Amino acid sequence: MALPPSPPDAATAPVIRMQGICTRFGDKVVHDQLDLEVRKGEIFALVGGSGSGKSTLLREMILLQRPDAGTVNVLGLDLHTANAAQALALRLRFGVLFQQGGLFGSLTVLENVGLPLREHRKLPSEEIDAIAARKIALSGLPPEAGAQYPASLSGGMLKRAALARALALDPELLFLDEPTAGLDPASADGLDLLIQQLQGEQGLTVVMVTHDLDLLWHAADRVAVLADGRVQGLGSMQELSTLLQPAVQTFFTGPRA
Ligand code: ADP
Ligand code: MG
Repeated sequence: MALPPSPPDAATAPVIRMQGICTRFGDKVVHDQLDLEVRKGEIFALVGGSGSGKSTLLREMILLQRPDAGTVNVLGLDLHTANAAQALALRLRFGVLFQQGGLFGSLTVLENVGLPLREHRKLPSEEIDAIAARKIALSGLPPEAGAQYPASLSGGMLKRAALARALALDPELLFLDEPTAGLDPASADGLDLLIQQLQGEQGLTVVMVTHDLDLLWHAADRVAVLADGRVQGLGSMQELSTLLQPAVQTFFTGPRA
């Protein structure tokens, strides 16, 4: 008797699939028929020179921007056909850490981290504070950091506070744009470990834009090199280092930005 076809393996199915992505700003072509897949549970990195379209690609994954052509599917939802309610529900399943951090200066760290919970979960105030405090601890900040205002935190602590907020709603996908940029080496190393820990212990899928080679070698499962509007090289750092494509070689030898 013939066996029924097996369902697609949920464990290895892509959580993000971008196909034929074209993005232009005026005459400038940023993405030219770009294809890319992110697998569940991996730490996926986007690298490439300044202006190669990394941040724009990230913005297209998180519904902040639409490509001019092509399809984007995130967690099973086709973004071009999704209605507003579906798009909002999807947004709540991912956390985003922007380059600027984006914490409110007038709120304490605890209040900042609690904000998404206040907006999207109907919970008593004490419970929200308790969850926020757990996320602050998970992000490697001391408990007293919760009472501090962003202006009084170091760069490394600010990143962790912003990360705690990105984790508030227990995301399945975490997007990081240059998470270690501007940090001293010790803070960058700490964040590097934290990202790996989050992936390992929380089962998160992480998509990050970075040109931090230490972070890439330590944490990235797969790296996509963007150049001339497409993915010019894809693989582990080990695999990439053996590829001879000019864009990949330039990435390893600089100049980078
Ligand atoms: P990267 O993050 O790789 O440095 P970006 O995705 O930020 O690159 O930008 C890619 C290109 O698109 C750059 O040339 C940038 O100037 C341009 N660009 C990005 N966003 C806009 C925008 N909103 N309007 C016009 N040009 C933009
Ligand atoms: Mg960028």
